[in-house]
Amino acid sequence: MITKRVLTTCPYCGVGCGFYLDVRDARIVGVIPSKSNPVSKGYLCVKGWHAHEPIQHPDRLKKPLIKENGKFKEASWDAALDYVAARLKQIKNKYGPDALAVCASARCTNEENFLMMKFSRAVLGTNNVDHCARTCHAATVAGLNQSFGSGASTNSYDELPFMDCILIIGSNPTEAHPIVGWRVRTAIDNGAKIIVCDPRKILVAESAYVYIQQYPGTDIALLNAMINFIVTQELHDKEFIAKRTEGFSELWDAVKDYTPESVEDVTGVKAELIKQAAKLYATSKRACIMYSLGMTEHTVGTDNIIAMANLAMVCGHVGREFSGLYPMRGQNNVQGACDMGALPNVYSGYQPVTDEAIRKKFADAWRVNLPAVKGLTLTDMIYKAIEGPLKCFYIIGEDQVRTDPNTHWIEQALDSLEFLVIQEIFLSETAKKADVILPGASFAEKDGTFTCAERRFQRVRKAIEPISGKTDGEIICEIAQRLGYTMESDPEKVCDEMASLTPLYTGVSFERLEDNGLQWPVPEKNHPGTPVVHLGKFIRGLGKFIPVRHKPPAEVTDKEYPFILSTGRMLFHYNTGTMTTRVANILREYPRNFVQINPADAQRLGIKKQERVMVRTRRGELKVAAQITDKIKPGVLWMPFHFSDEPTNVLTNNAFDPVCRTGEYKACAAKIEKI
Ligand code: SF4
Repeated sequence: MITKRVLTTCPYCGVGCGFYLDVRDARIVGVIPSKSNPVSKGYLCVKGWHAHEPIQHPDRLKKPLIKENGKFKEASWDAALDYVAARLKQIKNKYGPDALAVCASARCTNEENFLMMKFSRAVLGTNNVDHCARTCHAATVAGLNQSFGSGASTNSYDELPFMDCILIIGSNPTEAHPIVGWRVRTAIDNGAKIIVCDPRKILVAESAYVYIQQYPGTDIALLNAMINFIVTQELHDKEFIAKRTEGFSELWDAVKDYTPESVEDVTGVKAELIKQAAKLYATSKRACIMYSLGMTEHTVGTDNIIAMANLAMVCGHVGREFSGLYPMRGQNNVQGACDMGALPNVYSGYQPVTDEAIRKKFADAWRVNLPAVKGLTLTDMIYKAIEGPLKCFYIIGEDQVRTDPNTHWIEQALDSLEFLVIQEIFLSETAKKADVILPGASFAEKDGTFTCAERRFQRVRKAIEPISGKTDGEIICEIAQRLGYTMESDPEKVCDEMASLTPLYTGVSFERLEDNGLQWPVPEKNHPGTPVVHLGKFIRGLGKFIPVRHKPPAEVTDKEYPFILSTGRMLFHYNTGTMTTRVANILREYPRNFVQINPADAQRLGIKKQERVMVRTRRGELKVAAQITDKIKPGVLWMPFHFSDEPTNVLTNNAFDPVCRTGEYKACAAKIEKI
């Protein structure tokens, strides 16, 4: 018999679906979709339906582990926390606070991320705090912030079914964000015309009015050519440009040579298709752009985002209902982890650490002196660990060995540290490198909030007690206590503290989130939330056109490595598969890694269907099965990155965007060989 039904939020992707966890005899036995959830409206994808299964998996870490002579030994909570606190103190005293760093977690709640950034700044005394947005949507924060003054989605999911045109670029909504993919399908059923620009012919491309198969890493050339055609054909929104933007003539100087014909070779796309797409987007009344990691995970990720913002502003397709940009967030709470200030340069609500008045506000509230200099990004923490100045890393809910580009480089960094603490729910590859592992709690074992890709705060509710005995927030607070600083761990009180210090979220409280959550900005106690931002005026005032030009990926093909390798997600798995590979029904669908190759290339190389092949790059090599498909162009390879035993990131390139420091997962030079 079901004894309890607890309403909560999905722990997988950034869509933010709502469901109930069914609890019987203190065990979670099932998932039931919430029909009243404003995001998912009673639907879930396959991952959501199985979200309860990893929670009570026998592999869960239940006791703290301390490494002695290379082997982990179980320890009591007191012994482990005493040891962690003593080592953090020792390293801080010996090398100074900036020798330590915290990696917060997009898997954890907003309240826990707020505690992590507070712990880093107020307790350790360093702004060296960051999280996995660095490897996914940091470009969105950096790019949209420059163009519009805010680095998040401009509009809401509910508008999608009523669009006339959706330009989907570098995003695979039906697989990576399936419930948003369902909204896109509804839009198609309602008559919307879809433009899909993607190096792979993804499922939604089958229904596209225009499908553009550009080479990976050529998006700026493509977008600039669309702008060029729109302006040349006088299809641009002159009134919007005049009233709401600045810098149009500088933009035109940059794009005037990007005719559709001139980019045919670099993009691999016929000019006629580019013109069709440009005309459709510009002349549609209700038109938006949906994008994801296909745009951000490049050395030109920030410029890619700016190029999309330029296109939207040229057509006046932003700053009103049924328009805008939808950055589809990867992890369940990557939006929230950014919003909570788990970033090296800002406190919660994107308040700069370098602003003296803001720093004083936080310092007064927390009764400490706070560091004034920006901290290191996750990327630069890796460099500094290898170079020497970074000695200690406290990583919460993140498997960097498997998620970051160039696995060997990450391993070298972690091996260089004097002390590594990992807080995790499973023994990940990163956890294996730790000196101490602290067993964390899953989403079902804690109260709090997540913020999804449409800026909506939603409640997360505890269904069972923490399997390890403590939530992640409690663990952080208990370490802080041992370091002489008291922090409140009760999630509702943490939420109130966050709201009191953060003008963007002043009106957020557990009580107000009970029904449908709230979309930020929520600047006052009774504010109803903001489904569409930049209405009438951009947050920065005028929208800014910023000229950007095509630059090739850091690594281009040559005789030795003649293929472009790109990577991405599949419907059935999630990130490094830590949770989904522990669900039998999901694993059955895709139990192992593979590489997609075009039939012409496979035939030329004598590679047969499902034959095991060797994929090599300058970083490493990996044996996987070949999947022969005309979904990708000749000269391109594609691999998912969900399989820890066959880890794709041994191949990817640790070349980084100079602004946002995101790695180039989407394009590197590779070769493929018969074994
Ligand atoms: Fe969960 Fe995302 Fe699937 Fe919704 S679409 S059920 S949030 S994984």
